[in-house]
Amino acid sequence: MAHDDDHGDHDNGHGSELSEMQLRVRALETVLAEKGYIDPAALDVMIEAYETRIGPHNGARVVAKAWTDPAFKRALLEDATKAVQSLGLINRVGDHLIAVENTPKLHNMIVCTLCSCYPWEVLGLPPVWYKSAPYRSRAVNDPRGVLADFGLRLPADTQIRVWDSTAETRFMVLPMRPAGTDGWSEERLAVLVTRDSMVGTGLPKNPAGAA
Ligand code: FE
Repeated sequence: MAHDDDHGDHDNGHGSELSEMQLRVRALETVLAEKGYIDPAALDVMIEAYETRIGPHNGARVVAKAWTDPAFKRALLEDATKAVQSLGLINRVGDHLIAVENTPKLHNMIVCTLCSCYPWEVLGLPPVWYKSAPYRSRAVNDPRGVLADFGLRLPADTQIRVWDSTAETRFMVLPMRPAGTDGWSEERLAVLVTRDSMVGTGLPKNPAGAA
């Protein structure tokens, strides 16, 4: 099965000089633009989208809506690709998104054991740890240990299920709605939804500590 090949070079220094990777990207972009293969303006639009519009705030909106709208929650669990598209969030062509629901008895977490496949349309770009070899291997062998490293200790009788993403199939976790949020608006609930709670390595924020 094909996987994303997006193992970027994150090891940039703090100097003003361009890194080796940045120089290569710039050279490649120049050549491709000169030959007419790419439109620099279109690239700018894509980069701007990743910097501003695409991020975990989209997933937080999806989760908060599922918490307050039973019909949307059903639609999300049935076909997450379609449900997030109904909110105007667009998947890459061919991508299939699956939402998995946490319950008191079942905790879900997502990983890509081969590389770094990630549901970017709802979560944005993956954090560095998601792409790290220790997370990718230990998430499967020792999920409870990984969760403990994240400060998350689940009851011993809560089952943990690990979902392995691929280039075609991505997962997002629908965390449990925190107690003490009765009557909260979607907007207020969305603030509680952390990125890690949608990867399964964390829980939503405590409503007592949220404004
Ligand atoms: Fe992958």
